[in-house]
Formats: sequence, C-alpha cells, structure tokens
Amino acid sequence: MGWISDELREQVLQETVIVQLISEQLELKMSKGYWWGRCPFHNEDGQTMFVSPGKQYFKCNRCGESGNAIMFIMKKNQLSFPDAVRFLEARRAKITHGTVYVMLLADDHYFVGYTEDLDTRIRAHFCGAMDVACDFHDPVKIIEKHEDVPPATEKEIAQLYRNLHGARRVHCGGLDARQKENDPIPEMVTNSNAGGFLLQLEHDKYFVGYGNDLQKAMRAQYNGRGCEWTRLHRPVKILRTLRSPLPETEKEMTLQAMRDFGWENVRGYRWLDVEIKKPVML
Ligand SMILES: [Zn+2]
Repeated sequence: MGWISDELREQVLQETVIVQLISEQLELKMSKGYWWGRCPFHNEDGQTMFVSPGKQYFKCNRCGESGNAIMFIMKKNQLSFPDAVRFLEARRAKITHGTVYVMLLADDHYFVGYTEDLDTRIRAHFCGAMDVACDFHDPVKIIEKHEDVPPATEKEIAQLYRNLHGARRVHCGGLDARQKENDPIPEMVTNSNAGGFLLQLEHDKYFVGYGNDLQKAMRAQYNGRGCEWTRLHRPVKILRTLRSPLPETEKEMTLQAMRDFGWENVRGYRWLDVEIKKPVML
C-alpha cells in the first residue's frame, strides 16, 4: 500500500541510528569498534550479530542476515518495505531531539554530527568506526555540544564552522551525504585491502597514495577528505592500483610517477605539500 519515494527512504535511513534501533530489540555490547548481540534471526546463544555505527548496517556472522535499518525492521517485525519505512518514520517522529556535537580532529579539522546517543557515538569515533573524515584525521576531543536539539541543527552548526574554518576542514555527515550518490570508486577494488594507488588529477597533476584499505583511501581523495593537493586538483581517474602490504610501495610509486610525469606535477608519500622541493632521490 502506497509508494515510498527514494527521498523518504534516504531520510529515514539517515535519521535512524541503527545501534539505537537494534538495542531497543536486543542487548548489544561494544567490542573492536562494533556492537555485538545475539542474532534474532537464528537460534543460538552466542553474540554472532554485529552492528556497525559508522556504516549503519548489521550482519550476523552465522546465518548471514544483514542490511540497513529498514531491512532489520522488515525481517524482525515481518513488515513489507513500505510498512517498515513507515514504522521507522513513526518511531522517528517520537524521538525528535538529540545532541549536535563538534569533534576536533587532528590537523585542525572538525567533524559536526548529530546523535541521539552521544556516548555511543563518541566511542564509535575513538574506535575508528566512523568511516568518514576520521579515516584521515584522528579524533581529539569534543569541543562543542548542543543538547536536546532537532536534527536540522547539525547542518546549521556545520555551516557556521565552515564559514569560520573553510569547507575542507569541516566534515559533516548531514551536509556531505549527497556526495555518496555518485561514488566514483569502481567495484573492482571492493574486496582489496592494503595497497598503493596512482590518480590522475585535473590540470595534468597526479597523486600517489597508500592505505590499509585501498578503497577507503582512494575515496577520501575523491571526496575532498584527503590532502590539499587533491582538493586543488580534483581526481579524474585511477591510473594504477597495486595491492601490497608494504608501505614502501607508496614511496616507490611516488618516485616512479615523478620520473614519468615530472616531479612538480606529482605529490605522494612524504611530498604532500602543495609547494615542495625536488626530492633528492630523483
Ligand atoms: Zn543469525
């Protein structure tokens, strides 16, 4: 009955804190950046289901049930998709207020967030479970807190911070959500882990990076959450990826790219500043 627009679906997903939703139905305990509990979809006493606060999804390691908040409610309450969305919308209407906070990150970056459960959120930040800005800038401390405010306050505060510190230093899930729609990272790297990558940028510039999670590290550069260089010259395409557990990979790839494209046009490894001198290794 009734049609659910993509917009409503997205809004409900964005406004539902999955850890809080699931913890209303079963007991969850934090371990290694995830919340764990007894899976309601198969019969076993162990803590086999985990919930990721950063990625906003759940998965049972035993029976394989997984998904977002809507899928959890569809399965748990045996509801159709439209009814599950309406259930979450109605639940959401009851909880209209939460906390907007500003987390100071390393390198003078900031993260503005909204949560109905600040303690859980802070733990998620420090456990590395927030997969946004915090990949590249470690959390330092909460510097501002607005309690009992509506979710829209998040965007207002984020805008104030962006006016003060510039857009590239201020990260905000609410403001940045639209970027996810055009995800430029291809499927081919979905299952990769550590490795280096070479990006072609605008203006005939290049960038070499390395990450324990190749896909995440590349996405940060595409999303403007990487370094100054890739914000000045936006990534155009991925020229090369090299899966390797050795961090020296980044140095070798950077020096090679400098030989290929001219050192002035390449940044990577420890030559990350916009202004650099010619590396002595060349
Ligand atoms: Zn299960």
